[in-house]
Amino acid sequence: MDDKQSFQFFLDFYADLPRQGPGNDQFTQHILGLLIDLPPHPKALDMGCGSGKQSLILAQCGCRVTAVDLHQTILDGLVRRIKREKLEDFIVPVHASMDMYESKEPVDLIWSEGAIYIIGFENGLTLWKKHLKTDGYLVVSEMTWLTSNPPNPVHEFWASEYPAMTTIDKNQLLIEKSGYRWLGSILLPDHAWDDYYAPQKEKITRLRKTEMLSLSEDRILKEIEDEIQIFEENRGMFGYVFYLMQNCA
Ligand code: SAM
Repeated sequence: MDDKQSFQFFLDFYADLPRQGPGNDQFTQHILGLLIDLPPHPKALDMGCGSGKQSLILAQCGCRVTAVDLHQTILDGLVRRIKREKLEDFIVPVHASMDMYESKEPVDLIWSEGAIYIIGFENGLTLWKKHLKTDGYLVVSEMTWLTSNPPNPVHEFWASEYPAMTTIDKNQLLIEKSGYRWLGSILLPDHAWDDYYAPQKEKITRLRKTEMLSLSEDRILKEIEDEIQIFEENRGMFGYVFYLMQNCA
């Protein structure tokens, strides 16, 4: 199996799961409700939207959403959801890379759960500023260290998976340096991780039972299991933090 097939297996693994990153519908809605100065029907961009869990919530709360994702396999899930929920007038899926996306007009809100790390936290903050109106809101969730002294295996795992991961204080400095007004940070609750990993565990068990997996496919499943294990054995050491900010100018 070549690298392209392995990557497709990886994408297919996540494509039909309810969400592609740790999160929670009520939590997304709660945070959206904290953005008190939004106009009645805000124009919003959902960067790295995946199969669209957050786009749907934004639209159901009155936003007009442009939902951007690089992978058509995953975006197809959003297209199906838009049809099912009859939200064609409220969500426009766009197949594009979030660092190359060109907006037609500035928006009131950029939302991005579990995706800014792909283009780099600071790089994303800098690149996305041009899409926002003055005082427009940016909400991103980002994997963050919650301890300054993690045990070695945890440190080594993240040093290999995401070496740029840092603390809330350091991310606040990056946010302010990039020209945003810091509004605060909120930690995604643990149960959202359990809800995210449960369908993955079920899918891994099912695939192992029903499919003839190649070595590289089995290796991909093992890597997913390693991540789940690191999380379950080290709760509270790292987590997804939502960062809330406004474009200063
Ligand atoms: N926000 C979704 C959620 O929470 O369910 C998806 C999060 S998932 C961890 C990251 C998403 O970013 C995937 O859907 C992936 O296809 C997408 N992605 C990866 N690279 C991208 C890029 N350069 N531009 C846009 N989307 C990208």
